[in-house]
Amino acid sequence: MYNKQEFKTPMSHQAPNLRNTNFEEVSIGYTLEEATNEANRCLNCKNKPCISGCPVNIDIPAFIGLIKEGNIAAAYKMIKEKNFLPAVSGRVCPQENQCEKHCVRGVKGESVAIGRLERFCADWARENGIEIESDVIEVKDKKVGIIGAGPAGLTCAGVLVRAGIKVEIFESLNRAGGVLSYGIPEFRLPKDIVSYEVDNLKKQGVKIHTDVIVGKTVTISQLENMGFNAFFIGSGAGLPSFMGIEGEGLAGVFSANEFLTRANLMECYKDEKDTPKPNIKNVVVVGGGNVAMDAARVAKRLGSDVSIVYRRDIDQMPARKEEILHAQEEGIKFLTLNNPKKIIGDENGFVKQIECVRMKLTDPDESGRCGVQPIENSEYTIDVDGVIMAIGTSPNPLLKNSIQGIEVTRRGGFAVDEKMKTSIKNIWAGGDAVTGSATVIEAMGAGKKAAESIIEYLK
Ligand code: FAD
Ligand code: SF4
Repeated sequence: MYNKQEFKTPMSHQAPNLRNTNFEEVSIGYTLEEATNEANRCLNCKNKPCISGCPVNIDIPAFIGLIKEGNIAAAYKMIKEKNFLPAVSGRVCPQENQCEKHCVRGVKGESVAIGRLERFCADWARENGIEIESDVIEVKDKKVGIIGAGPAGLTCAGVLVRAGIKVEIFESLNRAGGVLSYGIPEFRLPKDIVSYEVDNLKKQGVKIHTDVIVGKTVTISQLENMGFNAFFIGSGAGLPSFMGIEGEGLAGVFSANEFLTRANLMECYKDEKDTPKPNIKNVVVVGGGNVAMDAARVAKRLGSDVSIVYRRDIDQMPARKEEILHAQEEGIKFLTLNNPKKIIGDENGFVKQIECVRMKLTDPDESGRCGVQPIENSEYTIDVDGVIMAIGTSPNPLLKNSIQGIEVTRRGGFAVDEKMKTSIKNIWAGGDAVTGSATVIEAMGAGKKAAESIIEYLK
């Protein structure tokens, strides 16, 4: 039964004034009835344009077709063939720039809510205890070491273990998941979902060693001597950038990564934890991406009055539109077309003010993007006791410095060929460690591609 409804079936959310005081998930997810209603909006297009927008090539109309038939277990299995972490990607993928951007229903009205349907299947399967038997194709006497347990490393591990290859992951933090565990907050991605997906991999035989920094605790060549035949580097881009302005060393100035790690990994918002809760009354978050939105929304939930300072206009913010809207609804102020000039401290070295300058847009360049420039004599100060810098990250050089002869790009990522192979014959790399900060699904796509090439190599 085809559903002509022009807009996506709405998904319930916690009310803004309630959710900005807790860390429970903001979006509640579809019921079976809502999911079926939304699935019925899909036209089952012959040329399937949505698939071309999916970095892991899920057969989107086919899994939606199974939802229409009420066979959710089969829909889940079909998604899982291509995507190891559907409960994660269904929640955090920027679908509006990927599969949903290509959806024919988006031409007149809204695209089919592919991400919400993916999330629905994954949540339904978890709640109903659906397990996927892994078909081990051929057990080989080969062992692969993976550096980093983020989406790239976990996906690479999933593909390899399915092919019967032994896999051990080395993770520097005390929990697997990468940004999914330490960066993206609980209210967008509950941590029990990440643990569930990690446990699934462990059940399939993947060993995960936490608290191991490859390049420091152990080197790749030592691992090679211990019997590892090949390696995948999925070490992400966790090194925070700063603006290089005066006052960034003051107490009360955080990188977004540090701030989010305290909240997400170290759970400072839970009374029973020893992690001190940052006690900030007025905080400015600098940046306009997803990381800035997450940091601002966490600070709000920890009791701060929060303003986001961004040098361009709101339409130019790289964050997902949905995250911007959620932040606005939760009471976060947006100071767009503003740029920090310096951070001012008190006599004890604590931040007390931030000086900003107002900005204006200039004519578009060849790419069509407007530039920005400061408005003369428009400087002003804001009283703050916290500043969070969320202006980007890059790959940490520690690992590359420990691997003799490995090539890196100008921006510090590992240089790879089209199969994700580095300049060293038995080392592959993918995800943010190659591209710099990108997306979860792109990292997963890279991990999968590398695994397929590693399987060929080990044959
Ligand atoms: P990571 O997830 O960074 O994982 C790398 C892992 O390697 C980490 O656990 C790290 O501890 C470990 N590691 C690093 N060095 C070593 C070493 N030497 N030895 C051992 N282990 C090491 N993307 C989206 O698609 N949607 C979103 O909504 C979104 N929101 C985001 C919000 C935040 C706050 C951040 C920071 C990023 C967000 N992203 C989002 C981006 C996305 O999370 C990343 O692109 C993705 O996680 C990259 O995956 P990865 O596996 O390459 O690296
Ligand atoms: Fe369904 Fe949209 Fe894909 Fe067409 S493009 S098959 S309507 S999800």
